[in-house]
Amino acid sequence: MKFHIHRGQNQIGGNIIEISTDRTKILLDAGLELDGGDDAPLPKIEGLFDWAGYDAVFVSHYHSDHMGLIYNIHKDIPVYIGEGSYNIIKASDNYKNKPTIMPRGFLYNKKSITVGDITVTPYLCDHSAFDSYMLLCEANGERILYTGDFRSNGRKSFDTLLKALPRNIDKLICEGTLLSRENYVAVTEYDLEEKATDIFRKNNGPVFVLQSSMNIDRLVTMYRGAKRSNRIFLEDVYAADIASAAGNSIPNPDFSDVYAFITSPSKYHLFEKYKHKVGKEFISQSNFVMCVRCSMLGYLKSLAEKMSFKNGVLVYSFWSGYRESEDMKRFLNEFEKMGLEIVTLHTSGHADEGAIKRLVETVDPKVVVPVHTENARRFKEILPNVTVEL
Ligand SMILES: [Zn+2]
Ligand SMILES: [Zn+2]
Repeated sequence: MKFHIHRGQNQIGGNIIEISTDRTKILLDAGLELDGGDDAPLPKIEGLFDWAGYDAVFVSHYHSDHMGLIYNIHKDIPVYIGEGSYNIIKASDNYKNKPTIMPRGFLYNKKSITVGDITVTPYLCDHSAFDSYMLLCEANGERILYTGDFRSNGRKSFDTLLKALPRNIDKLICEGTLLSRENYVAVTEYDLEEKATDIFRKNNGPVFVLQSSMNIDRLVTMYRGAKRSNRIFLEDVYAADIASAAGNSIPNPDFSDVYAFITSPSKYHLFEKYKHKVGKEFISQSNFVMCVRCSMLGYLKSLAEKMSFKNGVLVYSFWSGYRESEDMKRFLNEFEKMGLEIVTLHTSGHADEGAIKRLVETVDPKVVVPVHTENARRFKEILPNVTVEL
């Protein structure tokens, strides 16, 4: 089995990894570069866009730096992705009036799929995207494990994943996003829930949470914080559609204390299906935690005319780097002007050094190949007894 990293080795995002035998050629992920923009030129990969030169593409998870190119690849190349991931992508595309992807089949935890002479087995892992998988490729008695993006500080048990993974891997293609922050230890999602609960209890004004609607773990954290501080939880139609697509155990407007709201009449056709739907009047008289996005600034200003934002708080729950974007700066400035306190509550969706070491100890690879990192050398320092191929 051969492998070739077309993109995403010494950078974060844009992963395209080719695995091949004499008979079969597949890709693991087909991602867009994080700072490439929507009109970035397609990478020059023969047989991916103009004709069907690959037998399949397996997508580890729905972040665009792993699957953004799926919309562009040749339609005769079969795509495999988690069913949960697909449902979320479909809901998101539907909201944005965008055509969605058409997978050939779905990935499920530990259910192998064979394409030609390569067998791919997904292993469900925790990440800031729901339904993320590590992908094990087996052919000709050889085994390559690709981690996709993963972490050990989420709500899913890392021990359960480690127990399930095979041992004595030939090659481990491992993400190293956090290795630029040496010795960093990621806070757990549970600790974040405690902090969120404290903040929500301490303030008696409205609480707004600025987070990715697609970060389902974070949605659960904020919902639990709201519940524990006796606040209702408000999701706009987009967040509600994503949460509903993730399954009925994820906080959505079918829950007794979760309500949908709408920020634009053009989305009424998506809003009307919800049992719990509320308008500004109801919201202005409630004790709530509201999920917000930068695009909602106009709506939030009009809400401020109906109620006091005094003693309110805005929880910033993104990676700190996003603070530099123009949209974000404007949004945070406006909130500050409205008198809200801005608090940061975030933890990474990626593996810290401890998680990487535990994974490597468990699967015991002959070789580790770093990807999705700006500090590949750090792998050598944290794994002194392992061969690291830079
Ligand atoms: Zn990524
Ligand atoms: Zn990711």
